[in-house]
Amino acid sequence: MEEIRENYLAWLRDAHAMEEQALTMMQGMLSRLENYPALSARIRAHISETERQEATLRQMLEARASDTSMLKDLMGKMTAGGQALSGLFASDEVVKGSMASYTFEHMEIAAYQVLIATARALGDGAAVAEFEKILAEEQAMADWLAAHLPETTSLYLTRDAANLTAGR
Ligand code: MG
Ligand code: FE
Repeated sequence: MEEIRENYLAWLRDAHAMEEQALTMMQGMLSRLENYPALSARIRAHISETERQEATLRQMLEARASDTSMLKDLMGKMTAGGQALSGLFASDEVVKGSMASYTFEHMEIAAYQVLIATARALGDGAAVAEFEKILAEEQAMADWLAAHLPETTSLYLTRDAANLTAGR
């Protein structure tokens, strides 16, 4: 049981780091989307969702880490996780950014599936409900990005052909 709990807290910590990373990446992307109003609005909405997710995970970590030193240790390692995909967002080009976002949402989906299974194993029903709510938000964002990739691409191509790429 203790091993399960250790894995649980580590994965919870990683998920929190992932959400912090998501915020940084989406905020960076947002500044380059002035010519893509639909994508811009959807990312803005998902930033709001992600801010709530980050706060929820932080509170869950604080409530589940058994003492302050354990919490300090967990929080200290937070920046290490969640950075694997950040390079994908470094591109200032909107099509690559959309592809990267779609990929990132699926990493989030996977992370919450893992957390749900682990919370179930520990009988942490309150957490299962929170993770399922977040999972639905990540799935909705991934679905939206997939549905709008053709539109984003053709808008980009039109602007590129008209030499409007300075504002992308
Ligand atoms: Mg998220
Ligand atoms: Fe997300």
